[in-house]
Amino acid sequence: MAAFGTEFMPKMALARFENNKWSDAELVSSDSISMHPAAHVLHYSSTCFEGLKAFRHEDGSVHVFRMDQNIKRLAQSSRFLYLPEIDEVQVAKMIVDSVAQFATEVPVPPGSMYLRPTHIGTEAAVGKAAAPSDTSMLFVLLSPVGDYFTGGAKALRLLLDETGMRCAPHMGMIKSGGNYASALGPITKAKAEVQADQVLFCPNGDVQETGAANFLLIDGNEILTKGLDSSFLHGVTRSSILTLAADMGMTVTERDLTVAELIERAAKPEVEAVLSGTAAVLTSVGTFIHKDKEYKVGTGKPGPIADKLRQALNDIQWGKAEDKHNWLTKIV
Ligand SMILES: *Cc1c(COP(=O)(O)O)cnc(C)c1O
Repeated sequence: MAAFGTEFMPKMALARFENNKWSDAELVSSDSISMHPAAHVLHYSSTCFEGLKAFRHEDGSVHVFRMDQNIKRLAQSSRFLYLPEIDEVQVAKMIVDSVAQFATEVPVPPGSMYLRPTHIGTEAAVGKAAAPSDTSMLFVLLSPVGDYFTGGAKALRLLLDETGMRCAPHMGMIKSGGNYASALGPITKAKAEVQADQVLFCPNGDVQETGAANFLLIDGNEILTKGLDSSFLHGVTRSSILTLAADMGMTVTERDLTVAELIERAAKPEVEAVLSGTAAVLTSVGTFIHKDKEYKVGTGKPGPIADKLRQALNDIQWGKAEDKHNWLTKIV
C-alpha cells in the first residue's frame, strides 16, 4: 500500500463561506482546488484541519469514530483562528455523505479510511496580515490507509527538548498548519543529530506532547498524562484511551509532569511510555534522549499494557467489542 496519506478518493465534499453564509456542500473532484494567489491562508496561515477515521466491520457496515469530538475541535480551531464559524451540522453531513459515497472503498482492518476535514481562509487580500479572512473553504478529503505498523511495531526514540517549543503557547489547542511548520526545525534537527524519531516538547521541564501526538506514561496500574490546558492539542485518542483505562480499573492521573520525574520513573522495569493519535493509535516509546544521555524506558520494548489498551480501542473501532460509550456513527 502507498505511504500513509498519499492516496485519495477521487471526489470530496466542499462548501464555501461567502457573503456571510455557507454554500450548499458539493461533491467535487479532489485533484485540485482553485483559489486566488493572494488567498489569506497562503500568506497568513488561516488554516485548521481534523483527522478521523472510518472503519469497516465484519458484517460490511462502515462506522466513523468519535465524529462529534472532531467536529467540535474543528469548530474550536476555526474560532481561535477567527475563521468563519463552521456549521457543525453541515460538516457532519459532509463527512457522512462522502464516506457513504465511498463506503465500498473503506479498507478492512487493520486498514481504515482516514478523513481530513480542512478549513482555510480564501479572501484575496494580502493587506489583511492583521485581520481575519471574510471568506473560507471547507473540504473533506478521504484517504484509504493500511496498517500504520507495516514491518512491525518498534519502540521509538524520543528527544526530550526543554528549550524549544512546539508552537506559540496560545496556539497549542488549535489543530493548525502553522504549528507543524513551527515544530519542523527542531524535529528535523533531532532526527539528524541524535537519530531521534520524534521530539517530546517539554518547555522549562513541562512535559507536553510531540509534533503530532500526545504523550502518556504507564506505571503499573496508573496511567499518567498532562492535564488539559491551552498549551497542547487535546487528542481524541488521548481521551478515549483514558476512558478505556478507567473502564479497566486503572488509575487515571491528569496533571503536570516534569522531565525529572519522567526520567526517574522510566528506570522502573514495568514502566511504559506511549504516544497517542488517530493515525497510529498508540506507539510505544523505548528510549528517552536527554542532554546527550540515553535512558531506556522500562524494558525499552513495546509493553503489554500499551498492547492491551490499543487492542481495546481497536476492538471497538472494528466492531469486535461493545461500543459502550457510543463512539461510533454508522454510515452504511
Ligand atoms: C492531531 C494531534 C494529536 C492527536 O489527536 P487525536 O485526536 O488523538 O488524533 C496530538 N497532538 C497534536 C499536535 C496533533 O496535531
